[in-house]
Amino acid sequence: MPGRTVLLNPGPVNISERVRRALTRPDICHREDDFSRLMAAIRSRLLQAFAPAGFTAVLVTGSGTAALEAAVSSSVDEGRAMLVVVNGVYGERIAKMARTHGIRVVEAASEWTAPPDLGLIERILKEYAAVQVVAMVHHETTTGLINPVAQVGRLAGANGKSFLVDSISGLGGEPLDLDAARVDLCVGTANKCVQGVPGISFVLARDDEMARRRTIPPRSVYLHLPSNWAAQEKGETLFTPAVHAAYALDEALVEMLEEGVSNRIARYAAAAALLRAGYDRLGLSCLLPPVLRSNSITALNLPPGLSYERLHNRLKAEGFVIYAGQGALSNRIFRVANMGDVSLDEYRSFLTVLELALREG
Ligand SMILES: *Cc1c(COP(=O)(O)O)cnc(C)c1O
Repeated sequence: MPGRTVLLNPGPVNISERVRRALTRPDICHREDDFSRLMAAIRSRLLQAFAPAGFTAVLVTGSGTAALEAAVSSSVDEGRAMLVVVNGVYGERIAKMARTHGIRVVEAASEWTAPPDLGLIERILKEYAAVQVVAMVHHETTTGLINPVAQVGRLAGANGKSFLVDSISGLGGEPLDLDAARVDLCVGTANKCVQGVPGISFVLARDDEMARRRTIPPRSVYLHLPSNWAAQEKGETLFTPAVHAAYALDEALVEMLEEGVSNRIARYAAAAALLRAGYDRLGLSCLLPPVLRSNSITALNLPPGLSYERLHNRLKAEGFVIYAGQGALSNRIFRVANMGDVSLDEYRSFLTVLELALREG
């Protein structure tokens, strides 16, 4: 694909031509069988790709944040609390969402460049009986850090808590065994490592956890998870779904299942390895040590004297879109994601262009 813009931001990602063609499938009414069949196919492909037996899938129209807000706002009984593990912008956002919906939050915060403090999490779980749900981010997109989901899941499970995981930038790019990690609710989106388009997101939930949520008073009309689930079980939707984004998600899931989820993960890991070897050659240093790094995002320290804007604009002019740091890291780092339908040759071209940009300063 010479001449196209290569997206090195963590979603939305470059999609394949076959997913793009799916966007032009026939106009349909979402109250007809055609859409019911499409929705059933997507839900079953999501379970096939990511979930063990005993899970159900709920589609949410909206970006990943919509599905996350549905999961968070539908998960805590009145008077109970949510323990949120925070080591980046997206952990902070879960806490903000819960508070916005009137849910009491206890934060287990740690440095953005370090894994969470498991001892602190355990102490909070022992100390605050009100905690009903533990929530955390799988892949912290802020830094490209992989959190120890299984370790936190074991702590949550051992203390009788539900476990909610934001794997919006994880699913399709990182392994996640929902049973082994004792995950009860897992949130994902169409347009990151799944390689669909923005507009549709999803929650994978244990059947019994979905049933339990039906007794919690709704905090939202649009984003009430059990109501959306109940409608979808009947082949219906509460409101108008993003039909075309659903077409693309369906095709993206077929494409991913053909590739194989583990092969997709290996492809991302290989791309990250190629890019990181290149950064090393160019004298760029990574924000995180290798053990914490994900397969799909690399946070790099900005070389002294080089502004992000200058680097970004120079690379964009050559057809590559990189991503800024967030929060306290915004002046210190830049991020390069390797998600989506991008070839190793395109990543090699990026390294060549990056080398020139760095030399010019
Ligand atoms: C991208 C992202 C979100 C938000 O997704 P949107 O599609 O932008 O709403 C939430 N959490 C994580 C970890 C993400 O990477």
